[in-house]
Amino acid sequence: DGTGIVHIAPAFGEDDANVGRKYELPFVQFVNEKGELTEETPFAGKFVKDADKDVLIDLDKRNQLFDAPKFEHDYPHCWRCDTPLIYYARESWFIKVTEVKDQLVANNKTVNWIPQSIGEGRFGNWLENVQDWGISRNRYWGTPLNIWECDCCGKQEAIGSRAELAEKTGNPDSANVELHRPYIDDVTYKCECGGTMKRVPEVIDCWFDSGAMPFAQHHYPFENKDLFEQQFPAKFISEAVDQTRGWFYSLMAESTLLFDKAPYENVIVLGHVQDENGQKMSKSKGNAVDPFDALKEYGADAIRWYFYINSAPWLPNRFHGKAVMEGQRKFLGTLWNTYAFYVLYADIDEFDPTKYSLDYDKLSVMDKWALSKMNTMVKAVDENLGNYRIPEAARALDEFVDDLSNWYVRRCRDRFWAKGMEQDKINAYMTLYTALVTVCKAAAPMIPFMTEEIYQNLVVNVDKTAPESIHLCDFPEVDEKMIDSTLEENMDNALKAIVLGRACRNESNIKNRQPIGKMFIKAEFDLNDYYKEIIEDELNVKEVVFTQEVKDFTSYTFKPQLKTVGPKYGKLLGKIKQALTEVDGNEAMDTLNAEGALKFNFDGEEVVLSKEDLLIDEASQEGYVANSDNGITVVLDTNLTPELIEEGFVREIISKIQTMRKEAGYEVMDKIEVAVSNNDKVTEIVKANKDKIASEVLANDIYFESLDKDSKYEKEWNINAEMVTLAVNKLA
Ligand SMILES: [Zn+2]
Ligand SMILES: [Zn+2]
Repeated sequence: DGTGIVHIAPAFGEDDANVGRKYELPFVQFVNEKGELTEETPFAGKFVKDADKDVLIDLDKRNQLFDAPKFEHDYPHCWRCDTPLIYYARESWFIKVTEVKDQLVANNKTVNWIPQSIGEGRFGNWLENVQDWGISRNRYWGTPLNIWECDCCGKQEAIGSRAELAEKTGNPDSANVELHRPYIDDVTYKCECGGTMKRVPEVIDCWFDSGAMPFAQHHYPFENKDLFEQQFPAKFISEAVDQTRGWFYSLMAESTLLFDKAPYENVIVLGHVQDENGQKMSKSKGNAVDPFDALKEYGADAIRWYFYINSAPWLPNRFHGKAVMEGQRKFLGTLWNTYAFYVLYADIDEFDPTKYSLDYDKLSVMDKWALSKMNTMVKAVDENLGNYRIPEAARALDEFVDDLSNWYVRRCRDRFWAKGMEQDKINAYMTLYTALVTVCKAAAPMIPFMTEEIYQNLVVNVDKTAPESIHLCDFPEVDEKMIDSTLEENMDNALKAIVLGRACRNESNIKNRQPIGKMFIKAEFDLNDYYKEIIEDELNVKEVVFTQEVKDFTSYTFKPQLKTVGPKYGKLLGKIKQALTEVDGNEAMDTLNAEGALKFNFDGEEVVLSKEDLLIDEASQEGYVANSDNGITVVLDTNLTPELIEEGFVREIISKIQTMRKEAGYEVMDKIEVAVSNNDKVTEIVKANKDKIASEVLANDIYFESLDKDSKYEKEWNINAEMVTLAVNKLA
């Protein structure tokens, strides 16, 4: 409440000008276009900001100064030279865009905005409130405004071409005039009144140039009509979110004025890049990343990939090295390693993929699975890119490369080690080759450099008729016949069981090389022996058993959930707690699952506890470890028999000898001799499993005393708490 005084200067600010117009205030402009005070003032010729002091002194002299306190406030300055600026009313040229507002709004509705909300919200609102477009600038450089004005009667003409200009001047040279200042300003012609028509001094705002791009780039309408019509409107454009008032607008405004249609069909709006903490990057704050430094450090593919997979394109992106490197490791690194694996063995075998074909009926389940997943990936990437869903497309690629490396290659490794070139080995090679080439083609738009390098080596190197670059290849087409959803689902279920089994192993603290007797799976699904064997092999378990009953291995304990039980049965809480400790865990769980609640009766007082009222803990029985997720329960029998323990030793010994082969620098195919000494227990185990160990480590013989050879490589090991000396020696 109260009163105050507000200072209004209609010639020096938009709000002031609007208020001035509304209340018909005088328009007083004592500053000229150079920013100097005018002749009407006692300070003529002085720069407006330098005159501040003189104005104060003058007011004070005339006893009209109440106070001149110093206070801090924001003030606009030139971003380049820091000169203080003033808002200044001046005559300008406008395009009366308000006249076509309805068409603008209608044309915008034909555009597919990604995200839709920017098209409807930010851009839609901007158009709903569109103002006339001030397009003239008082500068030297720029596209000269094409208006000629008579210096006598004030007549104005807009000239539409050089030809028109030549017609006006009657001088054929005008048809070749350089269309920039100063040359264009020399072109004048006679007005009907006898005066001279001269070009006005203004140039056009460069945003107008940006909106003229679709036709100006082809010099349309003067030439290239077909080309222009072919390319207009654009199928797709992409720019950052700040362009709603910039390029998105200038294109839409000019296209609406000239053609009354939208200049683009699809727009992906990009969010801004921020620093690690979500702050705007700025040079002065020191948190800006130089793109060229980042490119040098992480590589162009890694940076591109980060932006594709990190988040929806329109969201702000927090850019930091850790995140870029994570994607580099997870996707690019995995793809590269899988490619390197193929190359390593294809080189050894001199495998030429052009000499073989994929024969679907001869393929193994793993091959069919990989090719099914590959086609599912191609379909997903294609559909997602077709609908401008960028991170979704990237994720489909990411998941497939993970499947290919961490499942297909992991499971099929030894097929590549097999001797000769049997059908099974050809299948493995052709499957991996096809998968690598296809995923590269699908990923090429996103990681152009790495995919090109892989393509050059895998394809161009062996097939001189292939397109010379991956970027000249067609995008892969999905082969629906190769998609086997049952196969994918079964494998997916096996993988889920394996993940739970691994968690059980970790909890039980039993080394991966120690075989385990049995694993039980309770699930909605069943798997045949093929998948069971995969699970057994992955988890080093002797037998996988599907069961509907895991009661023998797990049980449940119940406690009341105080938040909900408290308010309902406050005074009975003690009795409820007691009763819950006394129930049979498995029986109570069955009741809870079947009836949705546990019921108790305390002296006639009925208590009904639903799942929300209970804290349920799953506990394993002694000797068993269980884990559940998504309706699957896996139980590992961790009781180890002497046979299992011996097998665990054998696996450890093999692993240690393989490690020593590598440390000694032996080639994969080198034959060796092995010596075991200084531990009776280990010696006995090796003796009992001599042939198995010897064949796995490529040993011609195993000795049970210290090896007397200078070239030997010897090391002491702790194997399951047994200290033992192992030696290897390469045979000539
Ligand atoms: Zn400046
Ligand atoms: Zn005239």
